[in-house]
Amino acid sequence: MKKPITKKVKRGKVVNKPVVKSRIKSQTRAKDEPKIEVNKALKEKMLEIVSGRQTWDEYFLAIMKAVGGRGTCDRGRSGCVIVKNKRLISSGYVGSPAGCKHCDEVGHEMHTVTREDGTVSRHCIRTSHAEENAIVQAAKVGVSTDGATLYCQMAPCYTCAKMIINAGIKKVIAFNDYHASVRTGEIFKEAGIEYVLVNNQMQEYADQ
Ligand SMILES: [Zn+2]
Ligand SMILES: [Zn+2]
Repeated sequence: MKKPITKKVKRGKVVNKPVVKSRIKSQTRAKDEPKIEVNKALKEKMLEIVSGRQTWDEYFLAIMKAVGGRGTCDRGRSGCVIVKNKRLISSGYVGSPAGCKHCDEVGHEMHTVTREDGTVSRHCIRTSHAEENAIVQAAKVGVSTDGATLYCQMAPCYTCAKMIINAGIKKVIAFNDYHASVRTGEIFKEAGIEYVLVNNQMQEYADQ
């Protein structure tokens, strides 16, 4: 492939200079140097991060997904970040209260909910949701969430939606849809919250 040429003025002269793109080159170490093991699994994961400059929404959604990786319930390692003036002010992931046992250690705490129309759904209630934890973290360290934007993995459930409204958050960007978020869209509209769903894919569980 032909290299793009940039024109550069040097002491009144126009000179053609090829654009040099930065790249990482595999280095070969000397034979007597100790061999350092490479974490291949971690390397593959990190290489999934696409190149090219991200928009602010892509940037905060990528951080939100990374935060969710710390979640302690495998029914959905959900993450959340709260942003104000393009600055990340708080983060949270789905997990048991600090110091309490995690689903990953002792199993889920399943709860069956029968709705008004007779339909039944199953939920793990051991954990606090990522959105709850992000709001609570802000409260713990004394950072105001008033007027902030919240990014989350799943459409917030009814309880989280009410917390979001009362925390003064004005915009919510959710990555996937969620079966327990039927009322969320309605009350966000009522409360004047700007609500964006990145895709309408429903987060599904083997046991729901
Ligand atoms: Zn669980
Ligand atoms: Zn929730």
